[in-house]
Amino acid sequence: MKSDDQEFAAPQKSMAVSIKTFGCQMNMYDSEVAGGLLQHQGYKILQEDFTKDRQDDTGVPTADIVLMNTCSVREHAEERVYGRMGMLGKAKEKNPDLIIGLMGCMVEEHKDKLFKRFPQLDLMVGTRNVADLPRLIEEVRRTRRQVAQIKQEGISIEYTDQIRREGRFHAWLPIMTGCNKVCTFCIVPITRGSEVSMPARDVYREASRLVQEGVQWLTLLGQNVNSYNGISPVDRAQTAEKGLAARNVSFPELLESLCQIDGLKALSFTTSHPHDATPELYEVIERNPKISRRFHLPLQSGSDRMLKRMKRLHSFAEYREKIKAMRGMIPDVSITTDIIAGFSGETEADHEATKQALEELRFDGAYIYKYSVRPGTPASKLADDVPLDVKEKRNQELLTLQKAIEAENRQAWLGREVEVFAESPSTKDPGKLVGRTIHEMKVVFEAAPSRIGSFVKVRLDKLTHETFTGTVS
Ligand code: SF4
Repeated sequence: MKSDDQEFAAPQKSMAVSIKTFGCQMNMYDSEVAGGLLQHQGYKILQEDFTKDRQDDTGVPTADIVLMNTCSVREHAEERVYGRMGMLGKAKEKNPDLIIGLMGCMVEEHKDKLFKRFPQLDLMVGTRNVADLPRLIEEVRRTRRQVAQIKQEGISIEYTDQIRREGRFHAWLPIMTGCNKVCTFCIVPITRGSEVSMPARDVYREASRLVQEGVQWLTLLGQNVNSYNGISPVDRAQTAEKGLAARNVSFPELLESLCQIDGLKALSFTTSHPHDATPELYEVIERNPKISRRFHLPLQSGSDRMLKRMKRLHSFAEYREKIKAMRGMIPDVSITTDIIAGFSGETEADHEATKQALEELRFDGAYIYKYSVRPGTPASKLADDVPLDVKEKRNQELLTLQKAIEAENRQAWLGREVEVFAESPSTKDPGKLVGRTIHEMKVVFEAAPSRIGSFVKVRLDKLTHETFTGTVS
């Protein structure tokens, strides 16, 4: 990437920056890039959450610059940002030099409305403009005017060696962004735009660079990684049927090529749309032990009527077939999902269908949440007609049911010997290490710190909530 070194001077003193990240892993990656670029320019990056870094009881943050990397996927995430903006407005009355900035999806969604609503806001950076952050901060410092850079074209992925990662052995690696699906509840096609993929050679080069730096576990990111390069396995099959040669590398091919990188020990990815998950992908996973055995495949609802209303492009029976095929081909695969409770028009019968789906498919994890209308989405034109108390009740029922299923699934692992990738010392018990299995289950075990960064064989002895305790075998 282009260096901004020549374009403006570094801050005169080491200004402290706090970056708070909301939402998905893509945002976490963008925050790591933002932190790295600013650090490289001479800024000091504070603990992520400025509220933990107060100067005194007045609530004035020690940070000179507070950035929030925002999420628009649910109303609740936006409300938290609005709450913090209020708190920061008060802090700015006490410290007028404080610089407040927003990044991420809310910037794309609301744009200039945010400047009008929050006069305390100094800068906004679009998802495709993270590299402009140092320049924009400098501009605010010079002019004390509200500044923004929100570009609609291009790709919101920056590969840079200036990134500031928390973990030594794990790295996020975005490979595509945006989405060409039109799920009616979802704001992503608006905030992140249409699908754009990083060229396969760039992904391979960046992955190799990360591995040379010592990273051993990579997580590939994208709104729908199966549709990487605009070639979902479904599209590819259709292209082949028409006798046309596919021009680009597909996601399964990309996975397989990344597995060849020497020194890379594990590779995971998120997230996938069921429409584009096919046996070609399961085969690649099955024959490459480096690929994570956790597969996140959002279902959203067990009712065909709801799936149609959400424009999810598949029925429940089709989804069930995919799970069956995957479980048949990849022994022990751990499948997780997303569920929306109380979507527009959802009846008791639809809700019951979702409960039955959870009972039947027995996911190892599920993000279950109450539907909230996202302005601008196709579903915002539908009536949000499930009363809040009913949404809450259904949400709770699904959560309780799923929690019991997950506990049972985890119990079945007790006594087994598994390979655990040792990631760090335990914060609660420094004599122990924390790691995760290739199924992405958390395990705490006693071992020498020298084992960090390698796979260790551990017997799973005990389960506390979602964490296993084990013994090195
Ligand atoms: S597949 Fe659907 S839910 Fe996922 S990002 Fe695209 S539009 Fe949103």
